[in-house]
Amino acid sequence: MEMDPFALTVAAEEEVTTKPALKQQRRKKKKIEMDNEGRGQASMYNTLNQQYEEKVRPCIDLIDSLRSLGVEKDLALPAIAVIGDQSSGKSSVLEALSGVALPRGSGIVTRCPLELKMKRTTEGETWQGTITYTAKKQPEGHFNHHVDIEDPSYVEHLIEQAQNDMAGHGAGISEDLISLSIASPDVPDLTLIDLPGIARVAVKGQPQDIGEKIKKMIQKFIKKQETISLVVVPSNVDIATTEALKMAQEVDPDGERTLGILTKPDLVDKGTEATVVKTVHNELIPLKKGYMIVKCRGQQEILDRVSLSEAMEREKTFFEEHAYFSILHDEGQATIPKLAEKLTLELVNHIQRSLPQLEEQIEKKLNNTQSRLTKCGAGPPQDPSDKVYFFIDKVTAFTQDAISLAAGDELQCEANLNIFSKLRDEFGKWKNLLDSNGSNFSRKIEREVATYEQKYRGRELPGFINYKTFETMMKEQIKQLEEPAVTKLKDVADLVKNGFIQLAQCSFVGFPNLFKAAKAKIELIRKEKEVTAEAMLRTQFKMELVVYTQDSTYSRSLKRKREDEGSVPGFKTVNYQDNEATLKEMMLHLKSYYLIASQRLADQIPLVIKYLMLQESAAQLQREMLQMIQKKENVELMLDEDFRVNTERKTLQSRLNRLRKARVLLTEFEYGQLS
Ligand code: GDP
Ligand code: MG
Repeated sequence: MEMDPFALTVAAEEEVTTKPALKQQRRKKKKIEMDNEGRGQASMYNTLNQQYEEKVRPCIDLIDSLRSLGVEKDLALPAIAVIGDQSSGKSSVLEALSGVALPRGSGIVTRCPLELKMKRTTEGETWQGTITYTAKKQPEGHFNHHVDIEDPSYVEHLIEQAQNDMAGHGAGISEDLISLSIASPDVPDLTLIDLPGIARVAVKGQPQDIGEKIKKMIQKFIKKQETISLVVVPSNVDIATTEALKMAQEVDPDGERTLGILTKPDLVDKGTEATVVKTVHNELIPLKKGYMIVKCRGQQEILDRVSLSEAMEREKTFFEEHAYFSILHDEGQATIPKLAEKLTLELVNHIQRSLPQLEEQIEKKLNNTQSRLTKCGAGPPQDPSDKVYFFIDKVTAFTQDAISLAAGDELQCEANLNIFSKLRDEFGKWKNLLDSNGSNFSRKIEREVATYEQKYRGRELPGFINYKTFETMMKEQIKQLEEPAVTKLKDVADLVKNGFIQLAQCSFVGFPNLFKAAKAKIELIRKEKEVTAEAMLRTQFKMELVVYTQDSTYSRSLKRKREDEGSVPGFKTVNYQDNEATLKEMMLHLKSYYLIASQRLADQIPLVIKYLMLQESAAQLQREMLQMIQKKENVELMLDEDFRVNTERKTLQSRLNRLRKARVLLTEFEYGQLS
């Protein structure tokens, strides 16, 4: 059948349903010799009894509607997949079952899984077909194609076109389904999925790994428990060696859901007929679902344009008259119509058995989808004024949390940010540093006070305490604390900043612009406040050089030190005439004052840091965030949602809708079964 001049244009727009050039089809119709004319095989499928048929259609319809909802993305649906080695006769079997010519030729002709939905209509109704598929075209997105077909002879060409759209021109393959629906009085009620044949060697223009790729795709389909594998094997090859049967056995070792189909019985080697009969009798490689044998058109018959209906007549005669195979015919295990009947029964049984699990799966998926959707949040409202309120709410909730964070109160946001305990840690370390610095100082005094005395002593007589020595040593010691104090400030500033940033992250999930704006503010405020705080700390240390405390405070401290030291043996008698005693007295003064100064710094430094870095920063952040609300033009930009969150929400939402519809379909189906 040459199809060349027939160029069908399919609108490639998202969600656009296109009727093809029907007129063109009609015109062409006259020219093309019809393969299907006068098939007259309507009676072929009348073998199923009426009562049973009433059960068959709803069952298959249910699964078809679930599949067209797209539920297959979420869960596996009962299906029959046709697999086989290249040229084993898969397409011929499908052709015979559907009465429609499918693409054929050498090499890998089937390059995408083809879902063949057959729906038997009542006698006298016209043939109707539809092809639907979604081609992914980068970067423009997805294109849904929907083509109504009036004439079965166009199917072949349209499938080729669809495959080119999906897998590219040439020899590539694609995992996406092409769906072909056929409604006719001459087809069985059945849905089958035709998979690319298992290639032994790649042909010219095909990537070397094509065989592996096809195997992977086939595995993906047949490994599902919900799939019945139809393994097509020519009668003239040793069935045990066929790749397709091996693959089916790998995923279904007990043959529970594998059905064998022997083809080409007319080509069987003389003398091996008994083996074929044994195979079909399930005696060689037993499968729970057993075997069927069919004869389709050979290459010569195709060249001779033997019609499909004529071929079916020939098949019948062939089996009836065959010396070995007639028994198979008598037992109902031969011919295409018997195969159709068997497959329909198998599919319906299979569907009915799968329904409880299917329901369970849907329920489970629904719950899971719902909870993930809840996590995604509702997203910004569409209405502009609602949007402004939403924005205000988001920002105020954040600023309130920022203030709470600074005050150590509970947060609305779910972030676990215990800044307060971290600060307590940091300030505890500061106190430890002051203490250990004090101990070092005591050791230094004992080691070096004499040297200092030597250096700084003025005109005082021995026995007088030298104030200059005291002051110099004291200032040197306190100066040593300045840099550690500034470092502490920076550490704490970092800690607080990170806390605020985490809070922003949690408050503005899904709004990257808003988060970025808040983060920038937090970082700027930190820098600003840190400069002020550092200046204050440095001033504090400058002030410390004044060496001051209240007289009474000092006297108390000195008295306590004197008592402490006095209790140490060897210091009991203080002789003021003695030089050594003067030095000891000096030590007492130094230690007393250090104690006072270090106590002051132990509180003062944390106070400055806390006030500026925590309290003031939070207040400033609040002011600046609220200012942001004032600018209405900010709203759109700030609420520009993270596209990942947005996509995720959309995906989940459509899954939810799909699954809900699926649940309704299932319930309706069960209700229908009861009544
Ligand atoms: P596929 O690659 O598995 O789809 O195989 P095809 O259906 O394209 O068949 C391969 C070749 O075997 C074609 O030339 C068919 O005409 C031929 N063929 C299929 N079934 C039979 C049969 O029952 N008898 C004979 N003689 N040839 C057959
Ligand atoms: Mg094929």
